[in-house]
Amino acid sequence: MYADIIIDISHEQLDRTFQYAIPKEWENAVDIGTTVNVPFGKGNRVITGYVINITEKATYPVEKIKPILGINDSRVNVAGNMIKLASWIKHNYGSTMNQALKTVIPVKDKVKQREKKSVCLNISDDEAEKLLPTLEKRARARARLLEALIEEPVIDSEIISSKLNISSSVVNALEKQGVVSINTESMYRNPVMDSNVFGKTVTLNEEQQQAADKIISDYDKGINKTYLVHGITGSGKTEVYMEVIDHVISQGKQVIMLIPEIALTFQTVQRFYHRFGDKVSIINSRMSKGERYDQFMRAMKGEISIMIGPRSALFTQFPKLGLIVIDEEHESAYQSEQTPKYHAVNTALYIAQQSQASVILGSATPSVDSYYKAKNGEYELITLNSRAGRGELPQVYISDMREELKSGNRSIFSRRLTELINDRLKKKEQIMLFLNKRGTAGFISCRSCGHVMKCPHCDISLTAHRNGRLVCHYCGYEQINVSVCPECGSKYISGFRAGTEAVEDAVNKMFPGARVLRMDMDTTKGKEGHEKILSEFANEQADILVGTQMIVKGHDFPKVTLVGIIAADMSLYASDYRATEKTFQLITQAAGRAGRGIRPGEVVIQTYTPDNYGIKCASLQDYEAFYQQEIAYRKLMKYPPVNNMIKINISSKYEDLLENASRNLLMFIKQKCDTERMIILGPSNANIYKLNDVYTKVIYASHREYDKLTSVMDNIEDYLPCNEVFRNICVQFDVN
Ligand code: ADP
Ligand code: ZN
Ligand code: ZN
Repeated sequence: MYADIIIDISHEQLDRTFQYAIPKEWENAVDIGTTVNVPFGKGNRVITGYVINITEKATYPVEKIKPILGINDSRVNVAGNMIKLASWIKHNYGSTMNQALKTVIPVKDKVKQREKKSVCLNISDDEAEKLLPTLEKRARARARLLEALIEEPVIDSEIISSKLNISSSVVNALEKQGVVSINTESMYRNPVMDSNVFGKTVTLNEEQQQAADKIISDYDKGINKTYLVHGITGSGKTEVYMEVIDHVISQGKQVIMLIPEIALTFQTVQRFYHRFGDKVSIINSRMSKGERYDQFMRAMKGEISIMIGPRSALFTQFPKLGLIVIDEEHESAYQSEQTPKYHAVNTALYIAQQSQASVILGSATPSVDSYYKAKNGEYELITLNSRAGRGELPQVYISDMREELKSGNRSIFSRRLTELINDRLKKKEQIMLFLNKRGTAGFISCRSCGHVMKCPHCDISLTAHRNGRLVCHYCGYEQINVSVCPECGSKYISGFRAGTEAVEDAVNKMFPGARVLRMDMDTTKGKEGHEKILSEFANEQADILVGTQMIVKGHDFPKVTLVGIIAADMSLYASDYRATEKTFQLITQAAGRAGRGIRPGEVVIQTYTPDNYGIKCASLQDYEAFYQQEIAYRKLMKYPPVNNMIKINISSKYEDLLENASRNLLMFIKQKCDTERMIILGPSNANIYKLNDVYTKVIYASHREYDKLTSVMDNIEDYLPCNEVFRNICVQFDVN
């Protein structure tokens, strides 16, 4: 047996493994992730390495392969655990080991920590008094420092240099003499600041208490399960998490709490900080590398007990992990967009299993995947049916926009929505208008011939902006808007007005007195852009907030009593088997924003397809009914979660090479892989066939058993490097 080993973990060396032989007596003890001692280089210096793979085939001449010297017990095997995790990710999500390692070890470069240095007197006061006169004659600076230290035995070195004007060489000289000692304390940059914010302390209601008790009593019995907490918006899920977290950390264990980045607002973090104080830390993508490194170090040393963050916080290396909580578990942000495209939920399950921890998944609109598993008993389902704080579920109306048009209403607001907006403005209550889109207008199309303006590089429809330009939101290509159709010459070419800017314009026109805020990708570019708009709205500096899906997460606005969903159909037409699920989730979450205060809320859903079950069930806030219809469709089509599915993306700058390579790959899969009962589709052009001048084709493979698919991915990874056809071709996997 042979082991592929990486020599310690530092940035440069990740890219190279070395093969060693495993002596017979170690065969049972050496596993992936084991820390071993190996002879290295010409001098056979003994150094530490980590086993990242074990194989039977030697990749070098056997006589040149050196043996492992032994297992290194002296090191904490933390890095080893991470390697094992990387190996699991590689296998399950299809990537190279390097890519997987870089994913699980998010902070690769050590960043110099900010240090706090202080100087203290190392001798008794009497000795110091005696020494002082001798120094005063020949070393005045040293004498001054000594004098100061007699007054105050510990002094910050910053004060010594800035206030006393004493240089570090003077301090060092006294240290050498044994008169003083220098203490260095590393100061971790603490991202959670401003602790004196008031938070309310709540008493759990019966439903919440039962949920918490169930999880806690399992936990105390040593039962580690995965719970799916399905609780309507505002049912108080966060309070339940906090109750369980409190218990887990009181047992000396630690907790990872995942929140979608977009919902990781000051408001959310403060709730945790209020309850747990500086036991909490956060990481997010806006922090510098150094700040993130500090937080990972604090966790590793056990200085904090709760890490809150997005997807990547999952790789926090706690000494004794007890619980992972994933809030809003249905969010697509939990799946990585880069290879390996790991999913945080499944990865959390693996990590929890390795460390005997429990997992809580929570959502008002669970993913069909998680709900399916809960129904099958893989997860334990816990349901919260009522709103915990103030507020009833809102009254929901559907406006059929086809009817509006027939009655001569050509504005983007239905009559009911218009009437309710006026009502709220009069009552000085707040309104949210929600749209799943950005830009002034959507696509530009010709009403005579149907031609749609597209990006010449990306095969994506261009978006018209207010400045009169058409923009590609994928590659940034821009051109001047057209007034005549380039295909047929007709003048009837224009936009489908349904962007956040257009909604803002319409509001300004129809409700001239109203104060409007707009929140979308364009208005939240700055570091705190997001937070600024939300807090302005929370402080009632505006009557109406217009925005994309960003506005439906995170903040609680008790004054909002009306939510308008401007074009519910928009997300229905994405070419994805999850389109209805996504639409249902978005509408339900948006509707849940209304009436979270004392006054009841109302919701208006505008749609051209009021009979679509996604829209209908969302309007009734009926998850169960939605799920039943959706799962029937998935079963019929054998889409996940019924079958597992992988998407193999094959891409290249050269269209002809791509054509050839994808056909070759299909043949390989069909002939060389175990494809019994596997459904294979394609190769077909990807949804976005051409992006940034790169062409992509896709092959889909689906099977009930996930193992069958991972073995296809493994086979492909072995096959690619040894075949000329794949020279300028990139192959990547998407899972489910
Ligand atoms: P969810 O996470 O399910 O949307 P939250 O935990 O954010 O719900 O709770 C919604 C609101 O209700 C919050 O303002 C919260 O402080 C309040 N709340 C939650 N539980 C209780 C309770 N038991 N008593 C009073 N208020 C509560
Ligand atoms: Zn035309
Ligand atoms: Zn483009």
